[in-house]
Amino acid sequence: MNITFLGTGTSHGVPSIDCMLRGYEHCPRGVCREAAADPRHRRTRSSILVEWNDQTVLIDAGPDLREQCLREKILKIDAVLCTHGHADHIGGIPDIRSYSRQRPLPFYGSAESIGKIRATFSYAFDPSTPAGGGLPRITTTVIDGPFPLFNRTVIPIPVRHLGLEGCLGFRIGPLAYIPDIKTITPTGLENISGVKLLILNCLRRGPDHVSHLTLQQSVELARNIAPARCYFIHMSHDIHYRLDRAALDPWMDFAWDGLRISL
Ligand SMILES: [Zn+2]
Ligand SMILES: [Zn+2]
Ligand SMILES: [Zn+2]
Repeated sequence: MNITFLGTGTSHGVPSIDCMLRGYEHCPRGVCREAAADPRHRRTRSSILVEWNDQTVLIDAGPDLREQCLREKILKIDAVLCTHGHADHIGGIPDIRSYSRQRPLPFYGSAESIGKIRATFSYAFDPSTPAGGGLPRITTTVIDGPFPLFNRTVIPIPVRHLGLEGCLGFRIGPLAYIPDIKTITPTGLENISGVKLLILNCLRRGPDHVSHLTLQQSVELARNIAPARCYFIHMSHDIHYRLDRAALDPWMDFAWDGLRISL
C-alpha cells in the first residue's frame, strides 16, 4: 500500500490569505512567512491518495485538488472516500471530471456527506443538465459500516466534529485516516484498534477549539490509540514544523505535502 499526502493544511491553507493581507511579518509563528522557503510550511487543504492492487483511492477532494493532481502527477483515480461535507473536503469535486471521462467515479460516504455533495453540486446529478466535458460524472454510495473495495475492507471510523451526524475517518488495513475530529466515538475507537499508521487531525497548539483537536489533545489521542507511527495533518499556521516537534513522541511527526509512505 502506498500513501501520498496531497494536502496537510486546515481549511484556510498555509500560507493563509489573512496573513498575506496583514503582512507576513505578523504571522504569529512565522510559518506563513517561511512557506516560500520551507515546503513543510506550505500546506494545501487536507487529502491523501492511497494506492493498492493497482487501484488509486482518493480520500477527500478539497479545493486544492487540481493543484495536488498536477503536483503529484496523478494519472487516474478509481474511487473517492468522503470523510464529511465541509467545503475544505469537497470543494474540488468539479475537477474530478478529468478522471471520470471513461466512466463515472464512485464516491463513498455517510448519508449526511453524500447528501451534502449532491446538494452542493446538484448540477452534476440533475438529468436536465446537458452532458459534456464540464461535468464531473459521479455515482454515490451511502455507507453505514465496513464495505469491500478493491479486495480490501474499508472500515468507517465514526468521530464527533462540529455537530455532524456522519463525520468519518477511514481504516484500510494498516492505515487509519482522520482529518477532522474533536472526539472519537466508542465504535470508532474499537474500529481503529491495532492500526499501524495513524494520520490524525492536529489544528494548533491552542486555545481549545470547538471542533478540532489541538496539539496536546492530538498527542494524547495518538498515545491512547498507540499505532507504530503517527502523522499529524489538518494543521494551521500555528504549528511550526521544527519548533513544535519537541512536543511529540519519537514515533510521531507532522506530515507535509508530498510526503510518501509505503506500508
Ligand atoms: Zn500565518
Ligand atoms: Zn470539517
Ligand atoms: Zn477540514
